[in-house]
Amino acid sequence: MKKYNNNDFSIKDIDKEVTLYGWASKKRNLGGIIFIDLRDRSGIIQLVINPDNPNYDLALQIKNEYVLEITGVIKKREHSNPNLKTGEVEVLVSSLTILNKSEELPFEISDDITALEDTRLKYRYLDLRRNQLKNNLIMRHKIVTEIRNYLNNLDFLEIETPILCKSTPEGARDYLVPSRINKGSFYALPQSPQLFKQLLMVSGMEKYYQIARCFRDEDLRADRQPEFTQIDIEMSFVTEEDIFKLVEGMFKQLFKNIKNIDLPNVFPRIKYVDAINMYGSDKPDTRFEMLINDLTSIFKNTNFTPFQKEEVNCIVVKNKADFYSRKKIDELLEFIKIYDADNLFWLKYSDQISSSFYKNLSVEEQNSLIKNLSLEENDLVLIVSGKRKIVKTALGALRLKIAKEIDIIDKDKYNFLWVTDFPMFEYSEKENRYIACHHPFTMPNDVNMLDDKENCYARAYDIVLNGYELASGSIRIHDPKIQQIVFEKLGISKEEQEAKFGFLLEAFKYGVPPHAGIAPGLERLTMLMCNTDNIRDVVAFPKTASAYDLLTKAPSTVSENQLKDLGIEVIK
Ligand code: ASP
Repeated sequence: MKKYNNNDFSIKDIDKEVTLYGWASKKRNLGGIIFIDLRDRSGIIQLVINPDNPNYDLALQIKNEYVLEITGVIKKREHSNPNLKTGEVEVLVSSLTILNKSEELPFEISDDITALEDTRLKYRYLDLRRNQLKNNLIMRHKIVTEIRNYLNNLDFLEIETPILCKSTPEGARDYLVPSRINKGSFYALPQSPQLFKQLLMVSGMEKYYQIARCFRDEDLRADRQPEFTQIDIEMSFVTEEDIFKLVEGMFKQLFKNIKNIDLPNVFPRIKYVDAINMYGSDKPDTRFEMLINDLTSIFKNTNFTPFQKEEVNCIVVKNKADFYSRKKIDELLEFIKIYDADNLFWLKYSDQISSSFYKNLSVEEQNSLIKNLSLEENDLVLIVSGKRKIVKTALGALRLKIAKEIDIIDKDKYNFLWVTDFPMFEYSEKENRYIACHHPFTMPNDVNMLDDKENCYARAYDIVLNGYELASGSIRIHDPKIQQIVFEKLGISKEEQEAKFGFLLEAFKYGVPPHAGIAPGLERLTMLMCNTDNIRDVVAFPKTASAYDLLTKAPSTVSENQLKDLGIEVIK
């Protein structure tokens, strides 16, 4: 095994004889002397081969990415390189072996890569040689290690649950695996270990965790992959407060030990309703203000038709009116149309107010608007009116877009936030019925509210970091009678209950403890800790946005015989 890492050496190692291994990452020939940057996982050290060296001719053959074994003596460098950790030393090579050659690479292994992402994904193993991706994988490893240490110290058990299983209830489409032995039957890959972790509570495991692989067949976004990893946690005999404390402690330790950042002992909390009202999102980015103001009451008797709507809301962009030309504001309108908003009214505040709507208001409305928003010179007011959901979502998205445009987000901040009291139900336009907002095993805040689907809230919580949903969780229903009622309210028939969750309902007959859990997403956490907004940057072998693996070319067709074995026919 390798005894040394390249990065181990400094001025205190002068005259030490070492044997090193790695890849030739750069070769220069200066006045007959050959310099090679030898790279291993730890970093780079410079090798020197003089013309009188017996290995000189061999060294001349070395090209980028050749794999080398060298022995030599550490020497002080004449001109040190402040960009390298080993920049003050070099190795005077005495023996050299080329362990393997490399063909010319499809792209250069460099920090400022220009190759297309598709090429990099096809040759992922080469891309992983680059510092950025390598460091991301190291970060991911550190995170998992810290989490394991933290939870193990608190007496949690790490328990694996099946990958080939029955459909689980996270609401996405399942990946299915046909069974050869039971033709016509399918396993589903777990969307999460939800039902198994609840069963482990029935078994009396009390404190469970798993670094769990999850699979969801849904449309991909920048922060989603078809397979991903959750830090899946479940505990018995706990309340929300226990879960909050556990998770706060976990992130606190993680950030301290890995990034030397002190997080607060207790994270701020906001109710779902307030998050929507103030930030237009259930995952608010609280690194900047620019909250949504509700102006509906000011305009409740207005004659201005566009404001005679369910809600009239606005955001105020402080001291940036001059930055937003009419053309730029038109672009903002185009942007919020994505969120189904159809209007954007603006006002630039100064001695001379300029506005797309101000003169249409009554003097009373004008005065209350200005007073209500405490406007100052050069403030820009952006108003959207319409249905509540559209208004909030559009302004929430606008708030984020503008914050990025005017660069007011402090990138060094890590703002954790609990979002609590989620709705129990949400209306699915696709299915034309109410579905569970979290999952059907979530405890309602008040069982008596279950008939009022729009106003029934759940003991469900999310943890949000800088505008990303990092984890969801909930207090589970442990009373079979309540579970029955919730299933009924969700329109899940007895037959469906039996077919989908019969085993869980059966288990719940035999003494189920009160329990609750949460599942932080490992990729999103790693992304945020690595300062990237591309999930593929923190996955060793990721899929493209169309769920394709460019490296192995999966998914792919299979042979007729394989299909026959499975009793499957593909419709062309
Ligand atoms: N299984 C849930 C999810 O994946 C998390 C939980 O409720 O623990 O969102």
